[in-house]
Formats: sequence, C-alpha cells, structure tokens
Amino acid sequence: ATPTAITVGLGKGAELGILIKNGDALEISEKLTTILFDKTGTLTRGKPEVTDIISFELDKNELLFYAATVESRSEHPLADAIVRKARAENLSLGEVEEFDSFGGKGVKAVVNAKNIIIGNRSLLREKNIELNSENEANIFKIEKDGKTVILVGIDDVLAGLIAIADTIKPNTANAIAELKKMDLKITMITGDNERTAKAIASQVGIYNVISEVLPQDKSAEVKRLQDAGETVSFVGDGINDAPALAQADVGIALGSGTDVAIESGDIVLIKDDIMDSVAGIQLSKKVISRVK
Ligand code: ADP
Ligand code: MG
Repeated sequence: ATPTAITVGLGKGAELGILIKNGDALEISEKLTTILFDKTGTLTRGKPEVTDIISFELDKNELLFYAATVESRSEHPLADAIVRKARAENLSLGEVEEFDSFGGKGVKAVVNAKNIIIGNRSLLREKNIELNSENEANIFKIEKDGKTVILVGIDDVLAGLIAIADTIKPNTANAIAELKKMDLKITMITGDNERTAKAIASQVGIYNVISEVLPQDKSAEVKRLQDAGETVSFVGDGINDAPALAQADVGIALGSGTDVAIESGDIVLIKDDIMDSVAGIQLSKKVISRVK
C-alpha cells in the first residue's frame, strides 16, 4: 500500500478506537490465516466469581479464610475472586508467611503454622497431594459447566475445592462468527484445564483449544504455527500474554490489559471490544485493496 493509504488507514483506525502502532501491522492484518485468543480477560470478562466452596473437614468459612489469606498475596484474577468472596463473608484475613507462587499453577504459604497450597491439579500432584476418585468426579462435573476448580491443600491433605466462574463477554460469540466468515482459523489458548477451556470455547463457537499451557509457552505455540506456514494474530490482555503478543505477526492487546501487554501489541483495542479486531482486519483489507 502507498504511504498515504496507510496513513489514512491508521487515522481511520484511531477514530474507531483501534490504535494501530505501525503501518506494517495494518498490511499484515490483511494476510492473517490464524487467530489465537487468550481466554481469561479476553473472551471472558476476567472478573471471576466464587460460585461454590466444598470443604471436606473444616467449616466452609475456615477453608475460605486460609485460601483467601494466601491469595491476598497473589495478583491472579482467580486469587482476587477468592479474596473478594472472603470480604463478602466479612472474614478478616490472617498473616502470610513464606509465600511462594508457581506461575500458571498456583501459590503456597504458611498461615497459622499450617502449610497451605492452592492451585490446579498439576501443582497439587507435584506436591504429592492425592485426589480420590470422588474428588476427581466432582471436579470434572464442575469443569464441564465451564467453571475453574481451585484445589486447596492443607498440611499435605486435600482440604477442599473452590469453584470459580467467569462470564463470557457479550460480543465474544458474534466476533468469532464474523472472523469465521473471513475464513480465519480460530483457536483458544489458556493455562486453564482442558474441560473448563472446552466448555467456554464451545459456548462461543471455538472448536480448537490449546489448554494447560504454561505462561512462558504461549509464545512457543505462536512460533509453532508460524513455522507451519500460518500468519498469526494473537489477542490477549495479560502479563502472561506479552511474549506471545510480541511473537505474533500481529499482536492485538486489549485496552484494559496490563501495561506490558499493551506495550507488546501492534494493535490496541481501546474500547476493549474484541469485535474491533474484526473491524481492524476489515480496515486493513480496505486499505490494501484500494491501492491494488
Ligand atoms: P489463563 O491462561 O487463563 O490466564 P493462567 O496461566 O494465569 O491462566 O493460570 C492457569 C491456571 O493456574 C489457573 O486456571 C489456575 O488453575 C492456576 N492458578 C494460577 N494462579 C493461581 C492462583 N493465584 N491461585 C490459584 N490457582 C492459580
Ligand atoms: Mg488473560
């Protein structure tokens, strides 16, 4: 495209709330073959809420006290949901010692001399905390509903489960449908477990799902697709997503995303509406076709 066409395109994008940082992003957008979407905070609102607390021995609020006390030190959206739930129950939190976090898996700390570990199955398995078949069945059922289950271990024993649900953004399914009409391959990529990921994906019309991906491995997935000949866009909002946004041919960051995500993206959706990723691609097609 001519420099003038690009300048006009960038200006038009800005008017629509689509901040395109460079002309290259506009030109490449027209050639995309695959779009990868982060789940939490991108397709979903990223404001999860605790829906169920299942405690095996302790009083529910006691389990919540331990979980929320540890999670008060984490910045993960799931941690925030647990802390908000404790606040809603008027619990005052305890003191946290020896806090440690395992990126994309969970956290641990000592509270009232008890070893608390909170996270996904893989983390609890690593710490030799066993799940019986009844627990497994329970977890599967909750995950099939599209909820995320957080496991709480206290002193090496599984003490309870916390189910957390996030809401799908109102425009997600429409945006996915529009992108499919453009013949783009669509994939969801997430650190969350397979069942929860698939349940959310199928509600928005996405059938390719890459789940249980560690934060540092999202960009490797982008690279793998590029090596297979795809021209890839990655749409995300989190700190986790920054390397993938940078690796993608066109990184699209949400305006409400973390600063590093916004810095790493080539395009920023100011209004936070993923329908604007559709508008951005349409805009690039228009700009490119006008000079052909
Ligand atoms: P996403 O790709 O959806 O943003 P993450 O990679 O951040 O997910 O996290 C993946 C999984 O790790 C979560 O679904 C959760 O099971 C677990 N996890 C991560 N951080 C925490 C935490 N602070 N507390 C409990 N679980 C956590
Ligand atoms: Mg996210």
